[in-house]
Amino acid sequence: MSNRDLVSELSELVGAENVLVDEGSRAGYAHDRLPYANFRAREGALVGTLPGLVVRPATTEQVSAIVGKASKADHPLIPYGSGSGVLGGIIPLGGEVMLDMQRMNRILKIDRDNHLVTVEAGMNGEVFEDALNAEGFTSGHLPQSLTISTVGGWAACRGGGQESSRFGKIENIVVGLKAVMPDGRVLEIRPLPKRASGPSVLDIIVGSEGTLAVITELTLRIWTLPPAEEAIVLALPDRTAALSLAKRIMQAGLHPRIVRLYDEKETASRTEGISAFETRPVMANIVVCGEEAIVAAEAALVREFAKSVDAVETETRPFDEWRAKRYVSITKQWLDKGYYNDTLEVSVNWSKASSLYDTIAARIAAEVSKDAHFSAHWSHVYPEGVCQYMTLRLPPMDQSAALPLHEKMWDIVNGETLAHGGSIAHHHGSGLFRGPWMDGEHGVGMDILRCIKASVDPQNLFNPGKLGFPPRAGSIDPYRDRGANV
Ligand SMILES: Cc1cc2nc3c(=O)[nH]c(=O)nc-3n(C[C@H](O)[C@H](O)[C@H](O)COP(=O)(O)OP(=O)(O)OC[C@H]3O[C@@H](n4cnc5c(N)ncnc54)[C@H](O)[C@@H]3O)c2cc1C
Repeated sequence: MSNRDLVSELSELVGAENVLVDEGSRAGYAHDRLPYANFRAREGALVGTLPGLVVRPATTEQVSAIVGKASKADHPLIPYGSGSGVLGGIIPLGGEVMLDMQRMNRILKIDRDNHLVTVEAGMNGEVFEDALNAEGFTSGHLPQSLTISTVGGWAACRGGGQESSRFGKIENIVVGLKAVMPDGRVLEIRPLPKRASGPSVLDIIVGSEGTLAVITELTLRIWTLPPAEEAIVLALPDRTAALSLAKRIMQAGLHPRIVRLYDEKETASRTEGISAFETRPVMANIVVCGEEAIVAAEAALVREFAKSVDAVETETRPFDEWRAKRYVSITKQWLDKGYYNDTLEVSVNWSKASSLYDTIAARIAAEVSKDAHFSAHWSHVYPEGVCQYMTLRLPPMDQSAALPLHEKMWDIVNGETLAHGGSIAHHHGSGLFRGPWMDGEHGVGMDILRCIKASVDPQNLFNPGKLGFPPRAGSIDPYRDRGANV
């Protein structure tokens, strides 16, 4: 089937206005928020290719029919949420069909009895959360990218919201889904509390980043909006004290909605004029919520634990300011000024957290550049460990000098994370850019994932070349300009 035949068949299916073939429209779908793609765009280069065309389905049945036609034409496709991913997950490598899910944007059912919501995958995150709030509920999944991402994209990337310490990551919130498989069949996972009927198929689809299935509907847990909350802002003597406080809070079984610990650099930029931080340079923001009696009890415990690590409580201004801007990206302001700014979020057990931070900081200063910025905060905490969210930044410089230094920073962060027994990705996913480290991440597990991909998608139709899976023959090699020395 020629591309022209495919266009006319798809137009018949979804309406010509929902099949975009002009270069301008296709260019808008050629990249997501991968910082490296932004660097390359400064020299007019794409990391991958333009999509061959964009199609916008409105129903699961249409997605299934599109997949059938793409399969017949042996034309690969990529599910597209709203392109807020930061790992190049939607970047086409060989003119793939882009399947824009954003017309599937309705809440189908709020089940008050079982505290569940069923939603179409292309619904915008902010619109979704606002609609739940209006009914007295929250999904508990509030990523910084809430306003620019879709519910389907959250599940596809195995994302984490800013309140994950209480509500869990998206894999703890999604309990059921509908998805179209590469052979066009519709997979349906019923939203049940728990099962013991073999491995979890839900967990194979959640986090598969468009490589195994196109998610069309999701059923998520919902919670009643907490009636009370209390914010506690603390100044602590050092990072070790802050990490041990968060560990104690989580291991004691408290359920704070927010735990945000900032290193000295990130504390300084948020606490100007507050004297407590002159002698205690590390900040913790902790917010407990729920029924009033629980809030009072949890707040009292947090204050008691805080005393034992020599923390002092200060005004809540830094937290209030963070909350007012919680969905605003600060990366863009650096990129717009020509800096090479990137963020990486890894997870590690408590016992290795301090060493991971110290080793990465020391190696970046010694091996990259003394002008390289390195800072971190810890805002997703669990009984067994923590997510370390790092900002890495090079000042404006010649691109040919900057790109190898940027690559070196990635090598240091991923290499040290694996050496410390951590995971290279806590919530942004793997996409294109983390592909070279997937074997190191999973070991034998990567062979299992490759077998699943090969048998579920023998034509390699769905998002080829992502998650460390092979690209199709003739595709662009995204690592052509990079050493990827892992
Ligand atoms: C400023 C900023 C802040 C961010 N903060 C957070 C954060 O706090 N937490 C967090 O988890 N992430 C964060 N992200 C990353 C990003 O927003 C998330 O990964 C988000 O879940 C991606 O959603 P999307 O709808 O934009 O997906 P896209 O970027 O369009 O797609 C991402 C991947 O998911 C696949 N996909 C999308 N929809 C579907 C579907 N329906 N079926 C199958 N596969 C699909 C795509 O093929 C691609 O591989 C942030 C990004 C930015 C730019």
